[in-house]
Amino acid sequence: MTKQIVKRLSRGFICVNAHPEGCARNVEQWVAGVGARKKAAGRALRNVLVVGASTGYGLASRVVAGFGYGAKTMGVFFERPPDEEKTATAGYYNTAAFHRLANVEGIFAASLNGDAFSNEAKRAALDMIRANMGPLDLVIYSLASPKRRDPDTGHVHTSVLKPLHHAFSSKTIELDSEKVVHVTLHSASKKETAETVAVMGGDDWRRWIAALLEEDLLAEGALSVAYSYIGPEVTWPIYRDGTIGQAKKDLEIAARDLDATLRARRGGAARISVNKAVVTQASSAIPVVPLYLSLLPPQMKKRGLEEGPLEQIERLFADYLVAEKPAPLDNAGRIRLDDRELRPEVQSEIQAEWPHVTTENLRTLTDFAGYQREFRRLFGFEVEGVDYEQPVETDLSW
Ligand code: NAD
Repeated sequence: MTKQIVKRLSRGFICVNAHPEGCARNVEQWVAGVGARKKAAGRALRNVLVVGASTGYGLASRVVAGFGYGAKTMGVFFERPPDEEKTATAGYYNTAAFHRLANVEGIFAASLNGDAFSNEAKRAALDMIRANMGPLDLVIYSLASPKRRDPDTGHVHTSVLKPLHHAFSSKTIELDSEKVVHVTLHSASKKETAETVAVMGGDDWRRWIAALLEEDLLAEGALSVAYSYIGPEVTWPIYRDGTIGQAKKDLEIAARDLDATLRARRGGAARISVNKAVVTQASSAIPVVPLYLSLLPPQMKKRGLEEGPLEQIERLFADYLVAEKPAPLDNAGRIRLDDRELRPEVQSEIQAEWPHVTTENLRTLTDFAGYQREFRRLFGFEVEGVDYEQPVETDLSW
């Protein structure tokens, strides 16, 4: 028992600790949200693997698969457990809560906390799937990582968020000082681009699918989906046309190859799902995105279009993954969950507001307060119903 009062600790904007009860409330809300609209399944989902399952889009995928469709889930993620001095990371507490709730509902869940890029983690996950689950109907690939140790060479690749050919200047929120400033990002070298592709491109996804096929752990008709982002023009120099965009293009090439392989070997498919921008630990690290994410929600909300990770993933499952007749793909064969975000009427208002945002009007013209609240919530802080003056158990496990 290591009960303690947990107050938010920040290094700059980032929270360096997490509140176990706040994280649990977040997961409970998602589970309740899914439970309230129990799914009428088309295709059966019995066994689902989620790589990157502890936060953001991966956690939403795990919640929808487990609690929405009753699937057995295996989650892989990389999170810091608690120790004498520090709380665990939010993804660790989210997972503890997921297991507790799954247990109550009698839904099978297994988790592996380790480096998904490594051969050891893949082997361990496959052993757990073979022993406790069965051939997978669905593999969700939702990793977001700044680094990757190459399993063949041991070299640690580091990704960068930079434009490709020219320096790019834009307005952004300096999150630490809460000021609206201009930032100039210098163009990436070829090596930096290659490193980013090595981390966030398709190589590791290919390795997961190859290992699963080799071990005969993919069911007939198995699907695999990896997540991507395109976004509006204001973010293109740093996202779609930047180093991360190159990595996502590589992920799309992997999707086409894996689609052909899965179709031939299992009558299955591999897809890219282009999701909407949401507040996660990964997206907050991208310059320009926090300002965009302060302007986007008010525009979506006033038109009744707003979706968080859970609603996006519910739509993914219902319309594309379990539907007898899946909704149409775009011209490049991708699932588009960003259709509402990219509606012209939403984007034209953001474009019109963008030049006028200043430090002085940041909190009146945009919903920066909402962005901050969402961000802190990711770590279990500022969650309704949690008494932050009370000591809480931080040494949790599953
Ligand atoms: P996130 O930071 O919330 O989650 C990342 C997950 O990856 C966590 O579960 C983390 O534990 C896991 N992880 C990181 N390194 C790992 C490692 N070495 N081994 C095992 N697990 C590891 O990120 P997110 O924003 O949900 O992003 C997930 C995917 O969705 C990414 O491909 C991202 O590009 C895509 N996406 C995100 C957004 C957005 O706005 N957040 C929009 C569209 C697409």
